[in-house]
Amino acid sequence: MDKVLIIRYGEIALKGLNKRFFEDKLVKHIRNAISDIGKLKVYKEHSRIYIDFNDEEYDEHDILDRVRKVFGVVSVSVAKKIEVNLELLKEMAVKEVKENLEEQEIKTFKIESKRADKSFELNSLELSRTVGGYVLSQFDDIKVDVHNPDLTIYIEVRNIAFVYSKKVSGFGGLPLGTNGKALLLLSGGIDSPVAGWLVGKRGVEIDAIHFHSYPFTSDRSKEKVIDLAKILYQYTGNLKLYSVNLLPIQQEINEKCPEEEMTILSRRFMMKIAQRVALDQGCEALVTGESIGQVASQTVKSLHVTNNAVDLPVFRPLIAMDKVDIVDLSKKIGTYETSILPFEDCCTVFLPKHPVTRPRLNKIIDSESNLDEEFLINEAISNMEKQYISLDR
Ligand code: ATP
Ligand code: MG
Repeated sequence: MDKVLIIRYGEIALKGLNKRFFEDKLVKHIRNAISDIGKLKVYKEHSRIYIDFNDEEYDEHDILDRVRKVFGVVSVSVAKKIEVNLELLKEMAVKEVKENLEEQEIKTFKIESKRADKSFELNSLELSRTVGGYVLSQFDDIKVDVHNPDLTIYIEVRNIAFVYSKKVSGFGGLPLGTNGKALLLLSGGIDSPVAGWLVGKRGVEIDAIHFHSYPFTSDRSKEKVIDLAKILYQYTGNLKLYSVNLLPIQQEINEKCPEEEMTILSRRFMMKIAQRVALDQGCEALVTGESIGQVASQTVKSLHVTNNAVDLPVFRPLIAMDKVDIVDLSKKIGTYETSILPFEDCCTVFLPKHPVTRPRLNKIIDSESNLDEEFLINEAISNMEKQYISLDR
């Protein structure tokens, strides 16, 4: 039958003069998210976005799941779309109850109507009562409860009518591309994908850079990062992944600098390389998954020394989050199962036995003076690989 996906957005509606700009971006991203499943009409009306489709031709769960992930979307509902006719409305409400009964036990319900078309014969209250009365007459064991019903059926009457019962949450945030672009330092761990997702949710486009130590780290660990990037892509779209071999740099550090500074020096190189790539690719900030005190390289002193390596703003959305909460979020966005796959990370290759936890900036800079930094960074970038992430749906 004819259906419509109702898409609600929140925060962007508050943006005053920018409203149009934000809404147009949102419509564009929704179109992109479903572009490969067919020519569907996506349109904006009454501060909501709609997608018309027929459920015999299209998989409504697929459409809903894709649209739900678009940043800026607050909630979505699949509604039956019918002509304005009281008998038809009654029938559809009963159908809606039946469909819900297949999934859950329902003892109580209510009808919530909105009559936007004032020429319709009943006002909102009368419509709810009439349809509610009809539903009651069709089922033996359910009652009306207007305060805390198991099921709410929504009816909207405009020049056409909608009947639906479920509101599925989106993630909110702002449409991508309304806040520039940032480069995410993407490891294979749990934290960095979540960090990239959070910044993306604020409307920032995301590209990613990954450091490996091939052949000390395997091809499989590279693939794991590509898999993570593909999950992020479902939210951020258009993701480019840069892969940089850090091994030559790690070997130089290993040879010429104190062992306990290995991690912090590597981290500074990562930041510097990331900054070069960012500036070259039009990214205005870096994003990392650091969180205070999580590991030796994330003490406040270490963060100071890492931060000092670059001038670009560094966004660390996880900075004050506990690991359990980060894990929860990674499960919600779908990166967790991939993140926990056991493949080696470049940082584990030369892991010092006793890493510095209170590095002094001048001491670290002093150690770096033993290295030909310019040469090492240039070499790393000239050997860098670039990959456009896409989905094999
Ligand atoms: P994650 O779970 O994101 O790997 P972590 O808890 O293991 O983080 P670190 O290894 O100290 O912490 O890394 C801190 C941050 O530095 C990461 O969140 C990521 O942004 C960046 N980073 C670390 N290793 C890499 C890497 N191999 N490639 C790209 N970025 C990295
Ligand atoms: Mg890590």
